[in-house]
Amino acid sequence: MSRRKVLYEGKAKTVYEGPEPGTFIQYFKDDMTAQNGAKKAIVAGKGVLNNRISAHLMSKLETIGIPTHFLRSVNMREQLVRQLEMIPLEVVIRNVAAGSLAKRLGLKEGMVLPRPVIEFYYKKDELNDPMVTEDHIIAFNWVDPYELDELIAMSWRINDYLNGLFAGIGIKLVDFKLEYGRLWGENGELYLILADEISPDSCRLWDAETNEKLDKDLFRQDLGGVIEAYQKVAERLGLVPKGGIIEGGNINEQLAASLTQIDNDLGRDRGLRSISKMPTKPRKV
Ligand code: C5P
Repeated sequence: MSRRKVLYEGKAKTVYEGPEPGTFIQYFKDDMTAQNGAKKAIVAGKGVLNNRISAHLMSKLETIGIPTHFLRSVNMREQLVRQLEMIPLEVVIRNVAAGSLAKRLGLKEGMVLPRPVIEFYYKKDELNDPMVTEDHIIAFNWVDPYELDELIAMSWRINDYLNGLFAGIGIKLVDFKLEYGRLWGENGELYLILADEISPDSCRLWDAETNEKLDKDLFRQDLGGVIEAYQKVAERLGLVPKGGIIEGGNINEQLAASLTQIDNDLGRDRGLRSISKMPTKPRKV
């Protein structure tokens, strides 16, 4: 195979140029990092599970009309995605107090919030991704007011849908992070598209009965059992058979490869379907 051009090397993913214009290949690595890269480890099989979980959740979101960058699974670690102009924001939705919110406001971890909360962080490693307000976002023109409205409405919808989806498999969606990008249509119209990944790396997921953590906090807090927890999530989503595809650090490659097809069946015939159209310039009032 010819050497592919690496376009972006992230902490948990690598982005390669895609097979056709307007596409990228997103490769899920086994690398785990926390504290902005200060804490590192390789967790064998994590990339395979996150690839499957994210492909599945993005495909499901497409079925309720959320446009996503996911096009199809390529193999057990890679997916074909749309090339977007990324918006430099992390959008965090919280349903239950945990992580930085619990710390910042002195809330008891596990307290159900009186209403879900949305937060924005400016993506800038050198600054440690500082929290920003809607005013900062508009003032610095990271998105325009119309894009911001759309982005918030989409995020609430995703939260409602994912809450139900996870509740159905006995998992509490405590909080999660989303990223968005822009795509221009043939006539210059602008589309806002969900990008990046949705996986136990980017969500807090707790067992609904026991509050057992099934996400990256196991790594952040040195609790161990990371791969087992991620497998549990994949298993409950019906993405891997009971017992999982990773045992003792070894991946059952044959099984993993055969499962890739399932995501593609789910997303078959999707192609470039219409997505919400927005004005590119502020409307005159
Ligand atoms: O750390 P904090 O409580 O602010 O994280 C909120 C949510 O956003 C968590 O689910 C976490 O996994 C996710 N997150 C992320 N990437 C970041 C920061 C937070 O996926 N850079």
